[in-house]
Amino acid sequence: MDDNPALDWAVRRDQPIIPIYIHAPDEHGDWAPGAASRWALHQGLEHLSIDLARLGAPLVVKQGSTRASLESLIKAHDVSAVVWNRLYDPALVERDKVIKTWLKDQSIKAKSCKASLLFEPWSIETGQGTPYRVYTPFRKTVEKLPAPADPLPAPKRLDGLSSVSSLTLEQLDLMPRVPWYRSIDQHWTLSETAAHDMLEAFCDGALNDYDTDRDRPDRHGTSRLSPYLHFGQISVRRIWHECSQHPSSKSLSRYKSELIWREFAHHLLWHFPKTPSDNYNDKFDRYPWKDDANHPDFIAWTKGETGIELVDAGMQELWHTGWMHNRVRMIVASFLTKNLGFHWRLGAQWFWDTLIDADLANNTLGWQWAAGCGADAAPFFRIFNPATQAEKFDPQASYRRRWLQSGRPDPMVDLKASRQVALKAYKALSDNT
Ligand SMILES: Cc1cc2nc3c(=O)[nH]c(=O)nc-3n(C[C@H](O)[C@H](O)[C@H](O)COP(=O)(O)OP(=O)(O)OC[C@H]3O[C@@H](n4cnc5c(N)ncnc54)[C@H](O)[C@@H]3O)c2cc1C
Repeated sequence: MDDNPALDWAVRRDQPIIPIYIHAPDEHGDWAPGAASRWALHQGLEHLSIDLARLGAPLVVKQGSTRASLESLIKAHDVSAVVWNRLYDPALVERDKVIKTWLKDQSIKAKSCKASLLFEPWSIETGQGTPYRVYTPFRKTVEKLPAPADPLPAPKRLDGLSSVSSLTLEQLDLMPRVPWYRSIDQHWTLSETAAHDMLEAFCDGALNDYDTDRDRPDRHGTSRLSPYLHFGQISVRRIWHECSQHPSSKSLSRYKSELIWREFAHHLLWHFPKTPSDNYNDKFDRYPWKDDANHPDFIAWTKGETGIELVDAGMQELWHTGWMHNRVRMIVASFLTKNLGFHWRLGAQWFWDTLIDADLANNTLGWQWAAGCGADAAPFFRIFNPATQAEKFDPQASYRRRWLQSGRPDPMVDLKASRQVALKAYKALSDNT
């Protein structure tokens, strides 16, 4: 509701509106929402329905082809305009282009708005007019741009139509049959109100020490707003605006620089739409990664049974909360791709299925960065040592104690020896390039 440009545009037309959600997973290409995302989507839609009904415009839920759903609504209700907030996943960009042209051909006004990013991915370019491939110059360019406009207020009342046929949320079948989400459920309330409360608590608390605490999985040092940002319960512009009210500090600029990483991830996905599945650096097409999701070592990684404490704690956190701390994400990804030698795509797909903040732009950037094959990636030879990382970032082992069960397996690999194997394979790749 808050800072929702499409809703704001519709309200300003001063005509009845039909808020609609169309569930069309087949239109997401290879990246239809995973299991945890479907659960999160159900929760988010439930809260959204309540909020919209309270303001006077009940949510209409449809399923199937977007075009067919719109067509039936247009015919039944004499619709004169369709407006939406833009999405940036490559398959959805293509879908929305086709829908826009089709609407215009029907003489229906079609309008899309920028809501989920501060800057459009195509609006930022190098002096040579090319996309950025390195984060720091991208950030410096963004920092020189005029500050994002103020967020839009939430409407106080909506003029809705009550006679529109709608599916129930249950008919979308988003909730899993096996209730594996019970523990995740205890960690999150995926409503707009909860997102705004979390932002307020973060700005009054953890933001002050973000510069140091953001790397500590044993502390509540980050905002945990990623699921809300992904699903749109809060806008990045609202976050930027609220935290900018705080005195300028190292922590504030660090936090903003993370929001700019998110912009950078979308910039890369926009310009390099094949990177969710292909190495950005094609030299790595010849790296001898294992590519078998049924391999017992890969399965042990997914279950948090590698015997490496920090890796297993992270995978357990993921399993129990649908979220994982950023530093631990980097460590489990480095361990999977380098110490165990599995293709980053397998890890990205596992995260896609299990994270409630699964986001194609951020997930692709994170995995390609950790594997060493992305734009502005960590150099391949910088391999995280989970044991020394644990000493540094979880010094009292409280994060590990929280997530690890007793009866731990022995380490499945020797960290030093597996590191050497990875470095040797990388050297062979570089020598042959
Ligand atoms: C292997 C790997 C996979 C990842 N997959 C995802 C994913 O699917 N979805 C996702 O939202 N993030 C992903 N990230 C990025 C990052 O881990 C999360 O955004 C962050 O942990 C979310 O927690 P937070 O909201 O408390 O972040 P905060 O530290 O509070 O940061 C605020 C916001 O900035 C953005 N942000 C922070 N760090 C990054 C980053 N490194 N890259 C891009 N944006 C960032 C996020 O939107 C985040 O919500 C991944 C990172 C790695 C290493």
